[in-house]
Amino acid sequence: MKGRVLIVGAGAAGLMAAVGAAEAGAEVLLLEKNEKPGKKIYITGKGRCNLTNDADDDTFFSSVISNPRFLYSAYHAFPNTAVKELLAENGCPVKTERGKRVFPVSDHASDVTKALVRAAEGDGVKIRLNTKVRGVLKEDGTAKGVLLADGGSIPADAVILATGGLSYPSTGSDGDGHRFAKELGHRIVSCIPSLVSFRTEETVFRESAGLTLKNVRLKIVKKGEKKALFKEEGELLFTHTGISGPLVLSASSLLGRRLEKKEVLEASVDLKPAVTAEELDARLVRLIAESPNKSLRTILGAMLPASLIVPFLSYCGQDPALPGNALKKESRQRIIAAFKELKMTVTSAGDFNEAVVTKGGVNVKEIDPGTMESRLIRGLFFAGELIDVDALTGGFNLQIAWSTGYLAGRSAASYVKEKYGI
Ligand SMILES: Cc1cc2nc3c(=O)[nH]c(=O)nc-3n(C[C@H](O)[C@H](O)[C@H](O)COP(=O)(O)OP(=O)(O)OC[C@H]3O[C@@H](n4cnc5c(N)ncnc54)[C@H](O)[C@@H]3O)c2cc1C
Repeated sequence: MKGRVLIVGAGAAGLMAAVGAAEAGAEVLLLEKNEKPGKKIYITGKGRCNLTNDADDDTFFSSVISNPRFLYSAYHAFPNTAVKELLAENGCPVKTERGKRVFPVSDHASDVTKALVRAAEGDGVKIRLNTKVRGVLKEDGTAKGVLLADGGSIPADAVILATGGLSYPSTGSDGDGHRFAKELGHRIVSCIPSLVSFRTEETVFRESAGLTLKNVRLKIVKKGEKKALFKEEGELLFTHTGISGPLVLSASSLLGRRLEKKEVLEASVDLKPAVTAEELDARLVRLIAESPNKSLRTILGAMLPASLIVPFLSYCGQDPALPGNALKKESRQRIIAAFKELKMTVTSAGDFNEAVVTKGGVNVKEIDPGTMESRLIRGLFFAGELIDVDALTGGFNLQIAWSTGYLAGRSAASYVKEKYGI
């Protein structure tokens, strides 16, 4: 008798848990409700899978927004270098790009999944697809297997829950694991969408949907207050419901809990952070002097992307058809002020259908960070986004899945070995 580790969910964390447990000598059965493993991995990094980040340890931990300290042991047990090696050994060499983001050399996310399946199956892991788990079997405070949705059950000596968060439920992560953990007595920190767009009150910029602005500065304050809660330069995208892009995704990670509490936030965008208001004004005055009879719409063509001009002028309360020489000084100042502080009221964040990750999940206080084992149920382990951990973009969320998955797998294998005195 080897001792069976049963893993629920063949996503990033579950596949890596399978590798960790099988390497350590356990018999591993991996259950997945979808028709294929790693469905979410396929869509990561726009199909290229930004699988980790070449960051140093400090950067990794400062990029984790919820509960970075909980991840110390897991990350050290299986850091970024380990996942790169494992993938390369299994036919998926990787490369590093801008921002130290790591991708497969092939640029195909599917190669990451293939390499993980190869590694797992090579170590003897059995993967059972189209198998939906309905609950965890428990006896005397110890996990004993799982109940299946079809009414059957599978006994096991240890169970790892790696069912993911709530984002992109179409990939299979729809909160089952949270329900199982709750049934077993675990507290779930409320789940909210993170790395997600912001919805704004103003409708004027809807016309600019799809437009990306590079090198702008986004500042966010609580409505009516001055203190900046977020201030960074980068890329911003206008959408049909508000704003998105890398800057907004980061802001959502840091400020999501405020929106959950129904706080209204004010976003202000500096469209030209490298130029002072005086310099901008001088430029506008010069452009008007060069073509006094041209419309504001045409004149601003030299300063703004085409699809932003009319919404921008409407925001400033100006008629786009107004000839430049008819623009009053006070209106010109309003335009310059808008260049430096384009204000929008953020009313809420986007939903789980578009969120890259889930903030919230199984409370880390009830999980041993050195093993990923439940502090409430013996033989029950957790891995991946199901836990209340989340990070910024850049490959950090998948790294969390790899690290917690591997550690949970190793620990579950040690647990069953100890049980059988092997
Ligand atoms: C569009 C998008 C792009 C992303 N891009 C990146 C990126 O480039 N880099 C990065 O680091 N992160 C990225 N992420 C985040 C990253 O994909 C996740 O954090 C990571 O996949 C979480 O892994 P997981 O194994 O915990 O969960 P998941 O990958 O969600 O896997 C959970 C698995 O459990 C299965 N399951 C659930 N319930 C049951 C059940 N009852 N029975 C059986 N099986 C079940 C599901 O079907 C699923 O296969 C992206 C996310 C999205 C949505």
